[in-house]
Amino acid sequence: MDDGFIRTESLKKTYLMGKVEVSALRGVDITVHEGEFVALMGPSGSGKSTMLNQVGLLDTPTSGCIYIDNENTSTMKENKRVELRLNKFGFIFQFFSLFMELSTLENVMLPMMLSGEPKKECKDRAIELLDIVELYDRQNHMPSELSGGQQQRVAIARSLMNRPKLILADEPTANLDSKASVEIIELFKRLNRETGVTLLMVTHEEELGKLADRIIWLRDGKIDVEKQFVSLETEELRVINPISA
Ligand code: ADP
Ligand code: MG
Repeated sequence: MDDGFIRTESLKKTYLMGKVEVSALRGVDITVHEGEFVALMGPSGSGKSTMLNQVGLLDTPTSGCIYIDNENTSTMKENKRVELRLNKFGFIFQFFSLFMELSTLENVMLPMMLSGEPKKECKDRAIELLDIVELYDRQNHMPSELSGGQQQRVAIARSLMNRPKLILADEPTANLDSKASVEIIELFKRLNRETGVTLLMVTHEEELGKLADRIIWLRDGKIDVEKQFVSLETEELRVINPISA
């Protein structure tokens, strides 16, 4: 049975703000299959970033479970969690978080250099990835000499260096204009199709979310059952009659 590449069960996260408890996730069950491109959507404050941070093992839940490749991450040894974060996951954030004093090529090479791989191999792989994100001719540019969309493509190339199985992207287009935003989503789709990488992307822009294979809707820290139902019907319609949808 395929239990999904990511599976969460009754996932809860409560933050303590002084003496006040903030329930960011109030029991969330999701399954994402290997090779899927899923958009996580919902209003601001609905728990999208919290959800992504839990799945990315950047934080620990208050209760509930996260399974990655059928393995319960809460009983995992810390070194296994670190290994997943470094070598199986790629992270993309709203701010491109490039090192401004490093060139495009050096930024992309960095994760593999940090893993202690020989420089020549890091460089070859980085150039290959810059070619894939269509920035082959910008290798020696500094980030400040690139547009926002180009900087995000550098960040995407960098996230692919260690050949992740899963890319977690939190509002990757929030700082881009609509044309660059669509280009980033199209790039994700192409990477997903060509490399089979699983993608979980947070966005609050429905037009972009619709480009993913499937949308998971959150509201107040829970699955938004109503929206989820409507979205499921639309997806079924798309499968039954690909032209009308
Ligand atoms: P979204 O990404 O959907 O906008 P978040 O996951 O960032 O939502 O936040 C969900 C809720 O949790 C919000 O009410 C937010 O204020 C709260 N929250 C998020 N991070 C923290 C934190 N580190 N400490 C306290 N409260 C937090
Ligand atoms: Mg957020």
